Amino acid sequence: MSFRIIQDHGACIGCGACAAVCPDNWAMDGAKAKPKKTEVKELGCNKEAMDACPVQCIKMKKL
Ligand code: SF4
Repeated sequence: MSFRIIQDHGACIGCGACAAVCPDNWAMDGAKAKPKKTEVKELGCNKEAMDACPVQCIKMKKL
């Protein structure tokens, strides 16, 4: 199974929580965060990134 990682980039407030809990796939890019990969085979720490986001702008979709 694979997943698509969807970030509402406009809603990101740049708090850095996703990059802190999931540096494997999240990094700061200027004032906002960005996923390194948007399609992954396993959610891994992306689940923690989603849970940690204070504005809930990270979503996952099963492909
Ligand atoms: S946790 Fe959410 S609001 Fe914070 S930097 Fe990541 S995507 Fe943006």
